[in-house]
Amino acid sequence: MATDYYGVLGLARGASDSDIKKAYRRLARDLHPDVNPDPEAKERFQEVSRAYQALTDPDKRRIVDLGGDPFDSGAGAAGGSPFGGAGFGGLGDIMDAFFGGGVGSRGPRSRVRAGDDALIGLELDLEQTVFGTTEEITVDTAVLCGTCSGAGTAPGTHPTTCITCSGRGEVQSVQRSFLGQVVSSRPCPTCAGTGQVIPDPCPECGSEGRVRARRTIPVKVPAGVEDGMRIRLTGRGEVGPGGGPAGDLYVEIRERPHEVFTRDGEDLHCHVALPMTAAALGTTLPLTLLDGEDTDVDVRPGTQAGTVLTLRGQGAPRLRATGRGNLLVHVDVQTPTRLDAEQEKLLRELAVLRGEDRPGPSSEAPGGLFSRVRNPFK
Ligand SMILES: [Zn+2]
Ligand SMILES: [Zn+2]
Repeated sequence: MATDYYGVLGLARGASDSDIKKAYRRLARDLHPDVNPDPEAKERFQEVSRAYQALTDPDKRRIVDLGGDPFDSGAGAAGGSPFGGAGFGGLGDIMDAFFGGGVGSRGPRSRVRAGDDALIGLELDLEQTVFGTTEEITVDTAVLCGTCSGAGTAPGTHPTTCITCSGRGEVQSVQRSFLGQVVSSRPCPTCAGTGQVIPDPCPECGSEGRVRARRTIPVKVPAGVEDGMRIRLTGRGEVGPGGGPAGDLYVEIRERPHEVFTRDGEDLHCHVALPMTAAALGTTLPLTLLDGEDTDVDVRPGTQAGTVLTLRGQGAPRLRATGRGNLLVHVDVQTPTRLDAEQEKLLRELAVLRGEDRPGPSSEAPGGLFSRVRNPFK
């Protein structure tokens, strides 16, 4: 079977490039041999790196998406071992993943960076999670500055080359040590490594290229979602610094408790109280389903306490499949607590008729209460 490269990175099939990059960065930060000496972490890091390589190379990813393994020698991959020769897993790759530029290709970094993902909770009633809905949500996020379109400059002005670093984005310092001169470089503090400064910042965003704004966004909630699930709205997250591409907005579903029904995945549960006499004689129970429709539940004569009646297809729709779960009706048989004289007389007569007026260990009722008490394990 082909390796689930998405799964290795903790992603769902079809994840976006930025998700793949983010997942890899997050895992690499914990697992890279330079920071984690654990041999298990090293192995895991190789797996993660391989998945990253498989999903960021368009040709390899195509093979993955077709259900193949691009590193399988039969699948036409270059070279047998993914780690042989290519030096994959080296520091260059991790720097590349962190900063979007290799160690070898130093230079001013871009002012434009991708935006963060955002998360918002959405409270829904059980009817809405089960049958689906479209809800308007209001989010406060960073959006592109309308005045400068992300450039960060006041209208009619332009960024200028940073004087401190002459546009290189980094400054060097020389230290003397017993080994000789050590030259180290660090990002330029004046321009934060971008090599450019904005002498006339945009009055709207103060050179950030983005502003905070409140937006109302419609969210389509598919039928069958469950508490805790997240719906991803691609590109509806925060716009990045310098007007960089927006992250994703995740809407986390929170299901409010329902008065009658509880939920267990695709199944719904409810409890009905049934008088002892009705349980003995059988009856028809009127029940209003979650969708508001009335139905009759057939209760057979001799129904026992704790009986669960199954109404097929009256549960929640399956999210990624067809069909619906079931509604499970739990029958609570109620023993009368207060009897008037007439009722008590009738019940006593019934007890005599059934030979139940003097129950005791001698009762021969097969499978009856008392025989079970005597032999609880039979
Ligand atoms: Zn602006
Ligand atoms: Zn500078």
